[in-house]
Amino acid sequence: MRLLLIEDDPMIGAGVQQALRGEGYTVDWVRDGVAAELAVADNPYELLLLDLGLPRRDGIALLQRLRAGGNTLPVLVITARDAVADRVRGLDAGADDYLVKPFDLDELGARVRALLRRQRGAAAPTITLGPLQVDPAAHTVTLHGEPIRLSAREFSLLCALLEQPGKPLSRAQLEERLYGWDEEVESNAVEVHIHALRRKLGAEWVRNLRGVGYYLPVQA
Ligand code: CA
Repeated sequence: MRLLLIEDDPMIGAGVQQALRGEGYTVDWVRDGVAAELAVADNPYELLLLDLGLPRRDGIALLQRLRAGGNTLPVLVITARDAVADRVRGLDAGADDYLVKPFDLDELGARVRALLRRQRGAAAPTITLGPLQVDPAAHTVTLHGEPIRLSAREFSLLCALLEQPGKPLSRAQLEERLYGWDEEVESNAVEVHIHALRRKLGAEWVRNLRGVGYYLPVQA
């Protein structure tokens, strides 16, 4: 799952990026509101982490522009502005949740998972596809009740495919989900992770539609 972090404070930005990468997310980081708008237009993010006090374009102004343009991505505001009036402004501008600095990185992780869950329209913390169960919070996967160990990339790949079973995602789409800008990607990286997922889950779980992409079979 790919997230965009919009934060001009180098210490906080680095800490948040590192913490969320440690949880298996792909995290791109921009330092101002204009760069953020360009990044959102060009990349398939699933959630934005937005600081409000930003150079070039304020976080509230950015959020208002995104929402006015029809963007519905979940937005978690992270900011030092803890006055009630600022929180209300943020929520009114279209933020989905609010975290006041300094915050606990575990709480940040939990709020990110909650927003992603809500975005998928599921209240349940686990995703079920037939005998396959995935818990995004605990990073666990079971198949027929048996635990399956996946690397962080394999887990992200599985989560991407789980969003819409039966709908193929191309190699390029999967690559965009799995890797941020500053990460070197081997040309066959997606295939390597697909191969590993097939080996661990069984080849019948990760299907290939020739020339189109990969998908999980819809379960009866
Ligand atoms: Ca700031």
